[in-house]
Amino acid sequence: MNFSDIKKEYDAVVVGGGINGAGVFHEAVQRGYRVLLVEAKDFAWGTSSRSSKMVHGGLRYLKQGKFLLTKSAVKERERLLKRYPGLVTPLKFVMPVFDHYGPSKASMQIGLSVYSLLAGEKQHKSYTKAEAIKKILGVRQQNLVSAVGFKDAQVDDARLVLRLIYEACLQGGAALNYTKAMGIERNQKGEVSALNIMDKASGALVEIKTKVVINATGAFAETLHPSPMKGFHIRPLRGSHLIFPGNLFSLDRVISFMHPKDLRPVFLFPWEGSAILGTTDVDHDQDMETDPFVTIKEADYLMDGLNYILPTIDISLNDCISSIAGVRPVLSKKKKAASRESREHVVWKDKGLITVTGGKLTTFRLLADDALKAAKSYLPGQLFDTPEQATQEGRQNKICQNISKSAQERLLGRYGHVGCQRIEQYDEKLFSPIEHTESLWVELCHGAEHENIHHLSDLLLRRVRIGLFLPQGGISLLDKIEAMCKPYLSWGSEKWNIEKKAYIKVWNKYYSPPQKNKEG
Ligand SMILES: Cc1cc2nc3c(=O)[nH]c(=O)nc-3n(C[C@H](O)[C@H](O)[C@H](O)COP(=O)(O)OP(=O)(O)OC[C@H]3O[C@@H](n4cnc5c(N)ncnc54)[C@H](O)[C@@H]3O)c2cc1C
Repeated sequence: MNFSDIKKEYDAVVVGGGINGAGVFHEAVQRGYRVLLVEAKDFAWGTSSRSSKMVHGGLRYLKQGKFLLTKSAVKERERLLKRYPGLVTPLKFVMPVFDHYGPSKASMQIGLSVYSLLAGEKQHKSYTKAEAIKKILGVRQQNLVSAVGFKDAQVDDARLVLRLIYEACLQGGAALNYTKAMGIERNQKGEVSALNIMDKASGALVEIKTKVVINATGAFAETLHPSPMKGFHIRPLRGSHLIFPGNLFSLDRVISFMHPKDLRPVFLFPWEGSAILGTTDVDHDQDMETDPFVTIKEADYLMDGLNYILPTIDISLNDCISSIAGVRPVLSKKKKAASRESREHVVWKDKGLITVTGGKLTTFRLLADDALKAAKSYLPGQLFDTPEQATQEGRQNKICQNISKSAQERLLGRYGHVGCQRIEQYDEKLFSPIEHTESLWVELCHGAEHENIHHLSDLLLRRVRIGLFLPQGGISLLDKIEAMCKPYLSWGSEKWNIEKKAYIKVWNKYYSPPQKNKEG
């Protein structure tokens, strides 16, 4: 959809195209409302393409005694696994237990037993020291006592956002990226009456009449709605990841460990054939308008942790191929240690303006439900619950049958039934992987043709994620990518040249392995 095609009145406008905005949009459309979603940059540009990709119950909540929160997150994890097979996939964890620091074996056993109980089935396991050494290649053997294993799940976060948005669009919703919410209009009673939005490409402004604005702008929430909670403000906290070639570790599960310096949980996890190390938790004082980036200090912290846990694996920052950082919107009163701040979501109401921020990827639907309940008196008609759509598209539909089962599942998970019907129309030759990545050329072409691409970085960093996995962000492939995607984008040669240069600049500045000169 183009900016010029939008209607001038909606039941609700959702601001922010991250997981929370996408979740509210999806839920609201399913409940029969006329809804517009606007995103100032690209869909999933914010934190929702920069998470650790875990769909999890949150063991840390359990440690804080928040059983209900953990229970609902575990339930959401199970729901997402069933609803989006091929996109949300099971993931195993293993955590070494030492006798000189970190949680004891007994405390881990208790925590994981409760976790399993909440999931309704045993999902954890205990390993002897010898088994731990086998499961965690290169693990520190000094003071190693044993290990524990448990199950959670993993998702391509940006693709989940995109799937929710496109699914809602198929059901009548309207969504625009590169469209910024500028300001809210109110009537004499102070109630929301309209939202002004701007097309970033042309600068055109339009007033959209609506009684409900859902502000799901994450770390930007206070720009539309200053915190109504006295003394509490959004504290942007950055979490950073380093990405390595997968063959350096041959991971088949997440290695979860406590950083020896501050006992924060750190993960080394497999994703799309690569290995990702993260995260940090530091105050984010970089420009909020540009992509966040990983500092050398954070990279050193992560490498110190990894080298401590896997001392016999010869790995250094020189092996890193790319990096990615995200910003947590945490509501904070006093500055506690960053990792002790609450991650729970909040909902603020102000006469038709509903703000939702915080929380986690996993529980986006619970947040969406809270947001719609808060908006209820300003929405037309009766708010009704939608029964969960039982379709499991991945299992039901025989699609793209001449490719491997895993590639089939990948496509169905990421694009759903309708997306796959479109994908099937492309030339067979495009169903091959892009270099050593798990992404297929056909995904790139489909993204270019159907997925609202404004910039090359939208395509290479969020529609497919090859910018994170290829050496130098895939710079050597850019001419080939141009040749493959040219038929599907209305870009002339000049626009392609501008976009290629812009992509290289963005990748070097924000996604390349951390270097001192980026911070200057
Ligand atoms: C490092 C890190 C790791 C994480 N790992 C996990 C994990 O493994 N599992 C998990 O469940 N959770 C995880 N989380 C939490 C989760 O990623 C976030 O809670 C979630 O992505 C927040 O989504 P959001 O939609 O609120 O914000 P965002 O994704 O940031 O989206 C907000 C959007 O609003 C847009 N916007 C801002 N202002 C405007 C405006 N005026 N007009 C229009 N649009 C606007 C922005 O461009 C942005 O795209 C992690 C978070 C971080 C930082």
